[in-house]
Amino acid sequence: MRRTKIVATIGPKTESYEMLRLLAESGVNVFRLNFSHGTHEWHGNVMDRISRLNQETGRHCAVMLDTKGPEIRTGDLRVPIELRKGQEIILTVEHGRSEELEKITVNYDAFIHDVEEGDRVLVDNGLMTLQVKKIQGKNVVCEVLDGGTLGSRRHLNLPGKDVSLDSLTEKDWNDIRFGIEKKVDFLALSFVRGPREIETVKKFLRKEKADISVIAKIETLDATKHLAGIFEASDGIMVARGDLGAEVPFTQVPLLQWEMAQMAGRYQKFSIVATQMLESMSRSPIPTRAEVSDVFAAVWQRNDAIMLSGETAMGEFPLKAVQAMHDIAIETETNYLRKRAIRKVEPTDERSEFCKNAGTAAEDLDDIAGIVVVTKTGYMANLMAAFRPRSPIFAVTNQASTARQCEILWGTESFLVHFSEDPEKTIEQAVKVILGKKPELKKKKYVLLSDILVGEALMPAVQIRTF
Ligand code: PEP
Repeated sequence: MRRTKIVATIGPKTESYEMLRLLAESGVNVFRLNFSHGTHEWHGNVMDRISRLNQETGRHCAVMLDTKGPEIRTGDLRVPIELRKGQEIILTVEHGRSEELEKITVNYDAFIHDVEEGDRVLVDNGLMTLQVKKIQGKNVVCEVLDGGTLGSRRHLNLPGKDVSLDSLTEKDWNDIRFGIEKKVDFLALSFVRGPREIETVKKFLRKEKADISVIAKIETLDATKHLAGIFEASDGIMVARGDLGAEVPFTQVPLLQWEMAQMAGRYQKFSIVATQMLESMSRSPIPTRAEVSDVFAAVWQRNDAIMLSGETAMGEFPLKAVQAMHDIAIETETNYLRKRAIRKVEPTDERSEFCKNAGTAAEDLDDIAGIVVVTKTGYMANLMAAFRPRSPIFAVTNQASTARQCEILWGTESFLVHFSEDPEKTIEQAVKVILGKKPELKKKKYVLLSDILVGEALMPAVQIRTF
């Protein structure tokens, strides 16, 4: 069983039921839908196909809605234009078409207040670079430092600047409402700058009684300065390396990624490493050796999940990309699981103390086949996974949404079981369901983490039992 989970972005190359089924069979745990593109109708149809896939195959694949966020973009162009090194161009916040204004329009009015003379503006995640020469009314005169072809609606980054954009746009709120209606499992919030936006969304979800986990995408300079608060407020984080590497110097991205993997352990939250992991596999059936090393590093750091973006959304080899990710993860884990002890996490409450004990027991006894965690909301499974035990975690729940949300957790496999009033009956049922899927575990030992009846009261307990 692979411990590191795979998130795959769905796009034109993978939207069909057949492709979704093949991706799930190749090892995808979470399907990501990027709301920077596509209509509600398109996304809704893909979500319906994923629900059908889960029903027909007994899987618990989860759906992640990734918001567009407040991106700064250039306007529409009839045809792409060439930007040549040394050329002077004008970016403008005037409303109208670029061709008629003979300037390049920008969709964000406060742009002229956020930039200063000498600032660099990255276009398309750094494919082109401009430098601000002067600001004149609604126009920003720039010199092209690195040229290229400018297409329509290209993304602009202002490296090292804290922009005053509101992190949640009207479109984001519409998309969040749509996600609640469609019962998505994860909401990934783009361009968050601190804990406030996450708290606002979480409050809204509570009001709507929506059981959705919130992921903070770390991709702004501001977010890197407020990591502790962001970890506290969110359920998990995504290292969104594409924009992050344009907002801060790209040399800092690997260290930030490593720091966030450490923090995820301390805060007992899940972490996803995203963007360009197997970028060359959009066009090539095999990864570059540098990409193999990159996936290795993310797995070695014991992140919960690794993500594919364009590789599965628009690439030529989506299934091969998932297969390559799976193979690299298996190779890496096979080596470290033998060598590395459980993660040093300070228990934060009584329940995480129990998880630490369960993990240590599984570690010390070398014939343990798994850790069975009975969990309604997924909280206990999340705490257990934070310790990164060598034994696989079997999360037993009576909620389909919890079973899907546990799909992102490191080393955790979900099982849907009917819960009884009597915890012993629930455990009996759980063992039946686990053995139904894994008959090879029969007569093997497992660590059980569940409530037991003590007199009239339910108390959490760690036990060693035999399947
Ligand atoms: C990123 O910037 O790395 C990222 C994951 O976000 P998006 O794909 O939405 O740009």
